[in-house]
Formats: sequence, structure tokens, C-alpha cells
Amino acid sequence: MPSTDLLTAARLAEIEELATGSPDPASLAADVVRAVDEGRIADPDDTGHALLLAARILEQAGDLADALALATRAIAEQPQHDVRARSMRGGLLLRLGRDEEGLAELTALRPRLESDPDATHLVDELAHAGRAETALEWITGALDAILERKQHGSEDAQDEAAAMVYGLAQRRHELREEMGLPHDHYDHLADRLDAAAGRVLNSLADSPATLLFWPRPEYDALLVRWPALGDTYPPGWDEHRAQVEQALVTAAEQGATDLGVVAGSVAGLATFAEQEGGDPTDPDTLDDYADALSEAAPTPWPPGRNDACWCGSGSKYKKCCRPRSRG
Ligand SMILES: [Zn+2]
Ligand SMILES: [Zn+2]
Repeated sequence: MPSTDLLTAARLAEIEELATGSPDPASLAADVVRAVDEGRIADPDDTGHALLLAARILEQAGDLADALALATRAIAEQPQHDVRARSMRGGLLLRLGRDEEGLAELTALRPRLESDPDATHLVDELAHAGRAETALEWITGALDAILERKQHGSEDAQDEAAAMVYGLAQRRHELREEMGLPHDHYDHLADRLDAAAGRVLNSLADSPATLLFWPRPEYDALLVRWPALGDTYPPGWDEHRAQVEQALVTAAEQGATDLGVVAGSVAGLATFAEQEGGDPTDPDTLDDYADALSEAAPTPWPPGRNDACWCGSGSKYKKCCRPRSRG
């Protein structure tokens, strides 16, 4: 690249793409470092990111020692990005055989797993450095601590906890899969959160974006009448409404608006499936049924904190599904 180019965020992203399969990754990394040295990073806030990008390119090319120097420099340049940079530095130290320093760097970051979504980088680094067992122990410890806090904490603490559980549970699930471990209860939680989020995200294609919900008596009757729905729904109603709430929270976090729930009934589903010639236990039939119900009046979500909960419990939202289901 010409030496006078300003490196914009878009150009940095392009370089990141180019780096994979580049015949000369070292010179690509050197170009980025030179731009930093010459003050040619368009947004000074990207300086740490640029250095880490160069470090990553060198790492992938097998030059761990120079990657370590750049990661160390990135930490000094931009302390606010330190979780990524420090995770990378810790991982590189481990892979260079400097175990004590590497573990010290990563152990210092460990508490961040409970509050900082970026901290899952340290799990990646541990796993990459052949320390998957440690990574698993830390991530499980973080989940235990968050879920414990969720039981007893303030509403704000609960909201923060909910935002973390999804990401940690997914990352842990991947890790255990790579390790060839069987599903445990957190893996089932990860699968449920993922399925619930997937269902609501699918339904976002429609407007209004509504999710099918079964009031308590209907839920119990539903699973008795069509036991095969046990593959689609969790065994208990509490878990069902928690799943619906969690999926809506996830969708809202991803920017979805116009969210709502529609209440299904066993008799309604039976009639609908018969009219449509569909199988009531087929998820597609359930989606179509939800769409049909949405044409009436979906219950908008979320309710106000002091309003009646959408689940029909009769309690205020802030005392019912809002706190209990985040996570
Ligand atoms: Zn799974
Ligand atoms: Zn509720």
C-alpha cells in the first residue's frame, strides 16, 4: 500500500481479510505497524486494534515472538482494550513456554469473565495454548458465580448477569464439543437458549415479531396430548416462559422492535392443524399457528415494569418473568 494512506477502520477490516492466505503476511503486518508508527491510523481509537491485528497476522504466520511484542505494545497504547490484548499476550506467553508469566496474565483477567463479554477471548487463548481443561474450569466457575448472583442480586445485577450467561454458555458448549465431552446441564441450558433465540429470530422476519407462548394449563395439556412436542419444548412451564422471555431479550438486544407474544391453546392448535392438514408437532405448523394468532392482537412485549406480566401469572412483570428468566 502507498505509505501515505490513512488506515481507516474499513481498510483495517480489509487487511484482516487479506491476511488469510496472503503469500507475505509479514509485510502486511509490517505495513500496519508502520502506519501506527507514522500516525496514519485514521481514528486514533483504532491504534490498539491495528496493533493487535498485526500481532494476529504474525501469530498466524508462526512468528509468536514478534506477535508477543506487538500485543504488549497494544496493551500500553490502549489500556481500555486490555482484555483482548492481555488475553492474547497471555496466550502467546503460554505457547512460547513462558507458562508462569502467561498464567499470571490470564489469571488476572479471570474475574472479568463474570462481567465483560470480551473476556471470552481468554478462554480462546487458553484453549489454543492446549489448556482446554483450565478454560473449561474457569468458564464453568464464572457461570456458577453469575447464576448464584442472579438468584440473590438486585435487578440491575440480574440484567447484567443475563447478558453474560448466553455468551458464556454458548462458548462453553463449543469448548466441550471440541473436547468430546457429553452434554451436561449447562450444555442443555446453552442448547435451550440457542433454540429459543433461533425461534424468535426466525419469527422476526414477520411483522409484528411474535412468539408463541402457552399459558400454564394449556402447556401441561399440550405435552400430554402431543408428547412428541417434548422435543420442541422444555419439560416444565416455568422453563417455557423463561425461554420465551430470554429469546425476546436476545431479540431486543439485537435491535428487534415490535415484539410480542401470542397465547396458544390446545384446542386452537388442534383445529388449526386439521384445517391446514399439518402435523401439530411439526415446528413449521407451530410457526404458522403463531402467525395466524398474530393477526388478532398479540400482547406487546415488554410490558412496563409495574404492569401485569405477559405470562398471565397475575404478578407484576418486574417481579415475575423479567428477573427470573434473564439467563
Ligand atoms: Zn448441544
Ligand atoms: Zn411472568
